[in-house]
Amino acid sequence: MRNITHFIDGVSVAGTSGHFGDIFNPNTGEVQAKVALASVKEVDAAVQSALRAQQHWALVNPQRRARVMFDFKRLIEANMNELAEMLSSEHGKVIADSKGDIQRGLEVIEFACGIPHVLKGEYTEGAGPGIDVYSMRQPLGVCAGITPFNFPAMIPMWMFGISIAVGNTFILKPSEKDPSVPVRLGELMMEAGAPKGVLNVVHGDKVSVDAILDHPDIKAVSFVGSSDIAHYVYSRGTQAGKRVQAMGGAKNHGIVMPDADLDQAVKDISGAAFGSAGERCMALPVVVPVGAKTAEAFREKMLAEIETLKVGISTDTAAQYGPVVTAAHRRKISDYIQLGVEEGAELVVDGRGFSLQGYDKGFFIGPSMFDHVKTPMRTYQEEIFGPVLQMVRAESFEEAVALPSQHQYGNGVAIFTRNGRAAREFASRVNVGMVGINVPIPVPVAYHSFGGWKRSAFGDTNQHGMEGVRFYTKTKTITARWPDGATEDSAFIIPTMQ
Ligand code: NAD
Repeated sequence: MRNITHFIDGVSVAGTSGHFGDIFNPNTGEVQAKVALASVKEVDAAVQSALRAQQHWALVNPQRRARVMFDFKRLIEANMNELAEMLSSEHGKVIADSKGDIQRGLEVIEFACGIPHVLKGEYTEGAGPGIDVYSMRQPLGVCAGITPFNFPAMIPMWMFGISIAVGNTFILKPSEKDPSVPVRLGELMMEAGAPKGVLNVVHGDKVSVDAILDHPDIKAVSFVGSSDIAHYVYSRGTQAGKRVQAMGGAKNHGIVMPDADLDQAVKDISGAAFGSAGERCMALPVVVPVGAKTAEAFREKMLAEIETLKVGISTDTAAQYGPVVTAAHRRKISDYIQLGVEEGAELVVDGRGFSLQGYDKGFFIGPSMFDHVKTPMRTYQEEIFGPVLQMVRAESFEEAVALPSQHQYGNGVAIFTRNGRAAREFASRVNVGMVGINVPIPVPVAYHSFGGWKRSAFGDTNQHGMEGVRFYTKTKTITARWPDGATEDSAFIIPTMQ
């Protein structure tokens, strides 16, 4: 059985905890590898390596750090197929989705290639008589990232791409469900010219997360995962005096106005609800048609669209989506579907009976759709994170604005309409962090920032873009006045107490 090891100080480290996690092949249901789960000792070894590397790395000039990012980008592109296959084989998403996962991370690396420009700071000449004021952004030291299973390439790159480019060193604790791509990213970063210790990858469960949160030499922690864990990480990390950003779960709504291009909206919402088996924090699992006529038309078209969906193994290029990540996750989704029935929603399409010939032990689940979902239902309030579309009928625009605004999660939302005024008002008033107008998955491009509101994010800064740069740096502001009469010689002598 293959063992997936840590990547510490530029080398593969087997780990000594004696604890291992199973890595499944979601297509077949078989255990394909074991991953070493770190003890406090391994986390500390990674921190010591990162500390040693940081003193030098922070002094490497920004342009040279950017060159490492350029080379890293080139290496990722050269290894795209290998990385995508590796990712699909552990996650279960189809190859095209894996390439998208890597590509969106790569865009943050491209942003990081421009880090010298971004780090330039600010300057005011003559803020007072003979006084100049300037500010600079300095790295924090050793930072860490804890990431979820559903984007094992993109989310690590959101974090370490910026953190390393600004002069920090980094410890990545990826999901223990699909850890191979993160290790490969660590290796490629060294190949790109980053000194050993600049990026360490440590696998693990709660033990390693707690060790990161408690370690006095880690200055900042970025987390992405489910909301309860995000809240825990935020509380424990900030109590330990760290800077923490912790992104959580989601329940994104897609509002369909009566004047929407319905055919396009159905296609978009189908892709956003069922793509990647619904295992996306920016999926659209809730559709809100406005008015009974829109609801009936949407339902009919969506039923026809669902008929066309092909679920297949992750290497099937004709499949829209593959298996979910584990048997436990498939069980959780099935349990939610059962709960929806018990709560009184109408189950219009039931994906629970789906199985794929030749892959009957794979973690497959067909698309499901509910109609007449009501807001008090647990299946509406909670995140299912599977290929389940829930229809909540709204009577009016006001009700459609209120639904996502009042939901506990506030990650993304989309409105489908031809009316610019309605779209503008919706975008302005809705109580959600990222809004799409006729765009079903409004994940911001790398030079903007990603972040939800309410229980979808804890902390004050978003991921990547300038918010990412702010998170991973501290601002120092210098106010300077030069005395009269400095001679050529004295200008270069640092005065001492003699
Ligand atoms: P998860 O919360 O189970 O795991 C995330 C990370 O936390 C993993 O590295 C895991 O090892 C660690 N972890 C798990 N249990 C822990 C515990 N008890 N104590 C400390 N650490 C623990 O999430 P997941 O299932 O890997 O990912 C899916 C979730 O992530 C969904 O809720 C999804 O919405 C969310 N997500 C959010 C965003 C976002 O940007 N808001 C992006 C992607 C995924």
